[in-house]
Amino acid sequence: MPLKDISFDEEDKNLFQVPDARLRAEALQHSILPRLHAVLNESVALIREIYGLEALEDSIVSYYPHFRPKRTKELELLYPHAFVGLGGKRDKGKWNGVARKDGKPVQFLPFRFGFLISEQGFELNFHTYWLKGLTGESHKKWFAFHYQHEAIIIRLCFAASMYPFLHFDGEDVRWLSTIRQHYRFMENNGLYGSDYFSHAIQFPITTERIGNLAECYALFYPVYDSYICIAKGEPERFLDLIAKSNDWMEARYDAMEQEDIAESEAEISDEITNAAMVLAERKVRVMPAIRWQVLKRDNWKCCSCGRGSQQNVILHVDHIVPRSKGGADTLDNYQTLCSECNAGKSNRDSTNLRSVLSCIADFNKEI
Ligand SMILES: [Zn+2]
Repeated sequence: MPLKDISFDEEDKNLFQVPDARLRAEALQHSILPRLHAVLNESVALIREIYGLEALEDSIVSYYPHFRPKRTKELELLYPHAFVGLGGKRDKGKWNGVARKDGKPVQFLPFRFGFLISEQGFELNFHTYWLKGLTGESHKKWFAFHYQHEAIIIRLCFAASMYPFLHFDGEDVRWLSTIRQHYRFMENNGLYGSDYFSHAIQFPITTERIGNLAECYALFYPVYDSYICIAKGEPERFLDLIAKSNDWMEARYDAMEQEDIAESEAEISDEITNAAMVLAERKVRVMPAIRWQVLKRDNWKCCSCGRGSQQNVILHVDHIVPRSKGGADTLDNYQTLCSECNAGKSNRDSTNLRSVLSCIADFNKEI
């Protein structure tokens, strides 16, 4: 699923206002989460390119909401945001570098790093939580990592546009205290939750900006990787990874210098802007509030090939008769197509695939 097919527009923003819980949940499951997953895949590919690491070796893809097959209740809740990221693999024998207070083996890790979308926009988020269940010694290892590499982590925050949200208190630490003071305060007071996040990108969220955020993910990845190494009881490789990202950024800079920078920049941004505009135009054509109803009516599946989010495709809502040919903005004139089938269908072709499919379904019913 190529990144060029991914964008988020006002309709996606408005989804978080839809009062029908089931429609909202199904749209998250079949339309929002698959796109977030594609963004994560892009980041995983970048991590492979920059560091030569397979991010999914020790991690799994973590979803919110999760939509476990047997939990129908999940479809009845009104979710304020959706998240897809990496979290430590659930494994009894893997996380021996940290321990639980109750002595039971650590199965899953209390942090995750990924992409979050809500009405406010789209952001990158490295969130730690539930650390209460682990021993103080376990926490100290993560704190020690932050103390040791404090200066580089701060530079990394700049490079990856990440903002640390750490605990503070009017007396011990204040807004503009050093990061070290914040961590000391957290350590002394047993406060183990923290966040690093980017400021949310506003809607409409173009392919270009998503690409930038995926790059920020890959740049900040050495911090997450260190958390994983600590949990495994292995030495971190933070400085090695930083060296690799420096090499990668330098190589990219050199390549740009060799070309005629002004010309190439103009071309690239034109190309990206055009692609984003085509994408935005295609989506703006669908009447507000109709998109989700069309997708639901078509059972969140492509009317041409029958694939849905389970098969890793991105679903679009398409005019059957194009507007340029007088097609109306009514529910009847829309159909769900995956990006591949949509790309193969030009404005000249007004095949109503939905009626073909329902004819086949009717035919099957009759025989
Ligand atoms: Zn299709």
